[in-house]
Order: sequence, then structure tokens, then C-alpha cells
Amino acid sequence: MTKKKLDTWKTRTRLVHEGTRRSQYGEVSEAIMLTQGFVYDTAEQAEARFDQAGPDEFIYARYGNPTVRMFEDRIAGLEGAEDAFATASGMAAVHAALASVLQAGDHVVSARALFGSCLYILEEVLTRFGVEVTFVDGTDLDQWRAAMRPDTKAVFFESMSNPALEVVDLPAVAEIAHAVGALVIVDNVFSTPIFSRAIELGADVVVYSATKHIDGQGRVLGGVVLGTREFIRKTVEPFAKHTGCAMSPFTAWVLLKGLETLDLRVRAQAESAFTIAKALEGHAHLTRVLYPGLASHPDHAVAAAQLEKGGTVIAVDIKGGRAAAFRFLNALDIVIISNNLGDAKSIATHPATTTHSRLSEEQRSDLGISPGLVRLSVGLEDADDLIADLLKALKSV
Ligand SMILES: *Cc1c(COP(=O)(O)O)cnc(C)c1O
Repeated sequence: MTKKKLDTWKTRTRLVHEGTRRSQYGEVSEAIMLTQGFVYDTAEQAEARFDQAGPDEFIYARYGNPTVRMFEDRIAGLEGAEDAFATASGMAAVHAALASVLQAGDHVVSARALFGSCLYILEEVLTRFGVEVTFVDGTDLDQWRAAMRPDTKAVFFESMSNPALEVVDLPAVAEIAHAVGALVIVDNVFSTPIFSRAIELGADVVVYSATKHIDGQGRVLGGVVLGTREFIRKTVEPFAKHTGCAMSPFTAWVLLKGLETLDLRVRAQAESAFTIAKALEGHAHLTRVLYPGLASHPDHAVAAAQLEKGGTVIAVDIKGGRAAAFRFLNALDIVIISNNLGDAKSIATHPATTTHSRLSEEQRSDLGISPGLVRLSVGLEDADDLIADLLKALKSV
């Protein structure tokens, strides 16, 4: 039983109700359908379903599952996308989006400032299968223009980059890409589906690591690819269902619960992030405070035009490099040292020695990852407590 969905529903209503499928018991909370397979009444029904499964018909959990479908429908409604395919992790979503589209001889243009595993897929995996990749500075439109070729099949970038929080001018890059017929694939994790309307801004395909804000409570790994129905069901689904990156129904259930509170959580986190960024800006022990919501951020104008808020992550550069950054991290009481983001718990990361340690010194400096840089993912704690914790830790650098 599928609940009626209205086109007039606003975000918070969609996040609570969209995509709900109820069983004959009429349960309030979405059911976890922990089943690999589905029973057919007759052999004829099995035959018919393999030929063409209807919207409420399932064959095998690697292809689709009712709980997973609820998550796909709910996030597609949130994003304003026609359809979605859920995956076991964010990286499975990035890989499925790229590998289902590309073939040997194709050319891809990608921003250079990428999450480490995204860079690995573009640099090490796709190139092994004969795909040529050109990397550009994502904030430099001239570089995008110069890199585009008639055989450019896709462009890829993080709308807000990790960890320097560069904001790519999405509509401008989409226009440049669409001029040569290239597909625009956007990793929208840092911008969040709440603050960025990536599809309206020109993205053809949007991917998320649901591990971040969508779970937001540190429990599961998950990912999703969003796009047109044609793209999701004709291009992504055949690739994904046969290569086996399916999301587990349990994960989908956790993420459905995450979506219910997503809007409330990320708005509160972004508000705290802005308050904290303002409190830290100009601090004597910091050379930079990077937050797209601050007027001092190099991409503030693009962020203000394209994102509803500056996001939930701040980067600060601590004077004294790595040793000072480590003293700062070790002096924190509330903020934990870890490498996730978007969590209810505030998290500090030292990218140069963890998430970006695989890169060379030169690559890191190109991406603005200095030895003193610390990434702060702002959680749901009281902002005053966080500011007190951060200022106290800054005293010990
Ligand atoms: C975390 C992250 C990913 C990968 O997601 P997983 O769920 O960890 O596989 C991809 N892109 C960005 C921008 C991320 O932050």
C-alpha cells in the first residue's frame, strides 16, 4: 500500500511521509523487509515479473527491496529527482554513476579537489579501462572551458570540496558541459540536499554518501545516485543490480529515520557552524577560518547565490603547522577526533595526516591542505559549549 503523495508537499512533509509503503498491518514506522527474495504465487507470475516488474513488485534484494525503495522514493522526492538507486556506500554510488555511463575511449573532466576515494576512482580505476580524465581547478571556469572536448562524456565535481570548502559554480559548469553534450555528475555531500538544489541548478546526476548527514548519527554506510527515471532505471540499475552494490534493507530503514530529521538537524548544525566560524575568525592562533557562509571565504558569492546556507563544516588553519594542530586536537574535550562528517557529534579531522595522507605534499598544497589545517564538522551540541571547547583547545597550541 503506497501512501498518496502530493506535488505541493514541502521538504519537511516529504522527509516524513514520501515513499512510505505500508504492509497489510498498517504499521506506522516503516517496516524493515529483511528478505533476500520474494515468493511468486505461480510460475506464470514469476515469468511475468522477470519480464517486467511492476512498481510494487520485487524479484531479489540485489535488484531492489521494499524498504530500500522507500528510501529511494523519499530521497528522490527531497532532491526533486525523478528516481534514485540506493547503494551500499557513498563510494559505490560514485562508482556506479561513473562506471555505468563510461566506456573505453571516453573523456571525463573532473575537479581536482576531491574526496580521496573519488580521486582514486577517476585517477586509478577508470583510466585502467581506457577512460581519459582531465583534472581542473573546479572554481576556475576558464579551465573547465579549455578542458572540454567533443568526446567529453561526463564532468564530475564535488559542489563543495573537501576539506577546503571550495564552492563550484554549478550552473556555469553545467552550461559549459552541456554545450558539448557531457553529463553533469555532482557529488553533493558537503552542500547537503537541504541547502543545494543541485538538479534545479543544472546537475543531471547527483550522488550522496548517505553515511554523512542523511544518517547523521554515525551508524551505517550508504549511498544513492539520483537522476531521471530513464537514467536510473536504464543505465544505473542494470549496472548496479548485476555488479552487486545494493543497499541493505536495514541500512535503508536507518536512513529513512535519518531523513525524517534531516532538515532539522542540518539547519541546526549549519547555524552553529556559522556562529562558530564567526567566533573563531581573526583568532590569534589561526591563519585562516574557511566557511562558505563567511564574507571572507573566496567562494562566498557563489555559495550565497547557490546554497541556502554555508553548510555544516568549517576548516581552520592553525599557526605552527602539524605540531600545533595535533596539540589543538588533543586538547579538545567535546569535539571528537575522527574522520566522518555531518554527524550529531562534532568531529575534528587533520586531513594532511589522515584523509589526504595518500597525496603528495605538492598535491596537498594545491588543494589548500596545509599542515595546520583542521576540518571541523559541527554537530548538534550547544554552540556555546563547542566555542568554549575550541577556544580552550586553541590556548594550548
Ligand atoms: C564520505 C564521502 C564519500 C564516500 O562515501 P562513503 O559512504 O564513505 O563511501 C564520497 N564523497 C564525499 C564528498 C564524501 O564526503
